[in-house]
Amino acid sequence: ATPLALIRASGEAAARGILMRSGEAFQVFRNVRAIAFDKTGTLTEGKPALAGCHALAGTPSDLLKLAASAEHPSEHPLARAIVSAARQQGIRLSEPEGFVAEPGRGVRARVEGHDVLVGTSRFLAEQGIDLTPLHPLVERVQREGQTAVLVAIDGQAAGVLGLADRVKADARATIEAFRRRGIEPILLSGDHRRVVNAVAAAAGIEVVRAEMLPADKAAAIRELQHGGVRVAMVGDGINDAPALMQADVGIAIGAGTDIAIEAADIVLIGDRLSALVDAYELARRSYRLTA
Ligand code: ADP
Ligand code: MG
Repeated sequence: ATPLALIRASGEAAARGILMRSGEAFQVFRNVRAIAFDKTGTLTEGKPALAGCHALAGTPSDLLKLAASAEHPSEHPLARAIVSAARQQGIRLSEPEGFVAEPGRGVRARVEGHDVLVGTSRFLAEQGIDLTPLHPLVERVQREGQTAVLVAIDGQAAGVLGLADRVKADARATIEAFRRRGIEPILLSGDHRRVVNAVAAAAGIEVVRAEMLPADKAAAIRELQHGGVRVAMVGDGINDAPALMQADVGIAIGAGTDIAIEAADIVLIGDRLSALVDAYELARRSYRLTA
């Protein structure tokens, strides 16, 4: 391709909210055979809402207060939903101390002198928490298609929050558009298999990898690349950065986190998933015209 065609394409792309961070990105994008999607904030709106708060002992609002206080510094969409639900209920949050975020797992912090863990079953189990008393609650929440966020206080299982998120309105059409073009859509998510399967079904994706840590997502991309297959990855979060970098084309979507944007070759401004199809078509056209 001539530089002129690329310049024209990147101008047209920018007008549609598609930013190319390298000239090569478009050239590689039109040759991909697989496209992997993150779930939360990419295929879903990423605006989960608190749908249930189940405490093993004590009141749901005490549980929510500790969990929301611990989550306060986190920029994860689940954390924001938990914090805003607490505020809506008029709960006053406490300043957390020693906050640590574990991407793809959850957070830990000290709140009002208590050691609070909020996150996945795997995260809490890794921290030595006995999850047996939470199992029925977790199953109930997941059966309703919600993400289960587990809470432990001072080393003891304390309760489960259920968070509901919606699949983006244009997800199904976008997935179908890539499949029609011979590009296999894949869903990679850190969430539980039951929840991921529900989202995959709603979006029309058949290949699913669930319960993945950030490094697992990168390894999954590497597997897809075997035999020289070119793979694109679309994600929005800090947890997606390793996979975005491993992919032949990394695409950051939405408001995104700075780290995802840094790791990406193409940035889609706004939440519209169908901008991906626009980007792909532009990539094809700009090279076909000059081949
Ligand atoms: P996804 O792949 O669905 O975008 P992530 O990789 O960001 O999800 O996170 C995987 C899982 O880790 C989430 O479904 C959630 O259960 C848990 N998790 C990550 N960060 C947090 C957090 N700040 N608070 C609670 N749970 C979290
Ligand atoms: Mg995400």
